Amino acid sequence: MAELISGKIVSQKVREEIKCEVESFKEKYGRAPGLAVIVVGNDPASAVYVRNKHKACLDVGITSYQIEYPEDFSECELLRKIDELNADPMVNGILVQLPLPKHIDEKKVIDRISPLKDVDAFHPANVGKIVIGDYDFLPCTPAGIVELLLHYNVEISGKKCVVVGRSNIVGKPMALLLTERNGTVTLCHSRTVNLPEVTREADILVVAIGKAEFLRADMVKPGAVVIDVGINRLADGKLAGDVKFDEVEPIASKITPVPGGVGPMTITMLLKNTLTAAKLQL
Ligand code: NDP
Repeated sequence: MAELISGKIVSQKVREEIKCEVESFKEKYGRAPGLAVIVVGNDPASAVYVRNKHKACLDVGITSYQIEYPEDFSECELLRKIDELNADPMVNGILVQLPLPKHIDEKKVIDRISPLKDVDAFHPANVGKIVIGDYDFLPCTPAGIVELLLHYNVEISGKKCVVVGRSNIVGKPMALLLTERNGTVTLCHSRTVNLPEVTREADILVVAIGKAEFLRADMVKPGAVVIDVGINRLADGKLAGDVKFDEVEPIASKITPVPGGVGPMTITMLLKNTLTAAKLQL
């Protein structure tokens, strides 16, 4: 049986540390760090994420500005709001909840956020800094996964790491962070030939594809550490990861559950980035 990697437990510990640092920040500067979260439209999943982020901010003492616009809000107005937030000294971090409605160009929106307030680390300037290993912020999900691996004493250096999924927000930066920590990394995607052969090589296997219970036991080397990033809603309303947990858990050495694995860490890293941003801006 695998050891469960609990994002809840690690998250709680890191949030306690952040709370303490926020307290010191407030004492020193007379105000709390501030995070603005913009949501456009009424995507139900986005609404849940935004609510959770708001609550997490309040829990650690970060001021949360929730800005909600209707589905037909114009791109031009959104860009103007970002300009306004970029100039607002009370706002240290800006996050635009994705996906945006189709008439808004996501790239334009991300590019407009000041790199110093880009707490998602999606701006090209921040992505470039991560590539060269000289960064202020790390993207929240991969950074949270590294925290989990460190907390559970998973050695990355010299290990074969396989990342399945090459999105800009998870897969690609995950591959970079594991490389930075001296893992030997293979990045897989939908065109990878004979995926099971590749995933079976992994000592550390990170799966981020958005397909419920895709990764089966025959794709995993016994003793591997398995990190499941996927959040998929099943027909019965339950949440499932990208890994078929019941099959893989008996052969893995450590594994993240869904929910309660990677998810809580993503929000925790957002809080950490907001605190970092606030310090950088002073
Ligand atoms: P994207 O849809 O942006 O990317 C999916 C990636 O998976 C693509 O690179 C795609 O390949 C690859 N892929 C799809 N099907 C296969 C397949 N059959 N075999 C191999 N590769 C495949 O997804 P995200 O990275 O944004 O998200 C992935 C999952 O993680 C989702 O379930 C999402 O909800 C979840 N998520 C969870 C977070 C958390 O905090 N826990 C945070 C962010 C995301 P190609 O490039 O070739 O199309």
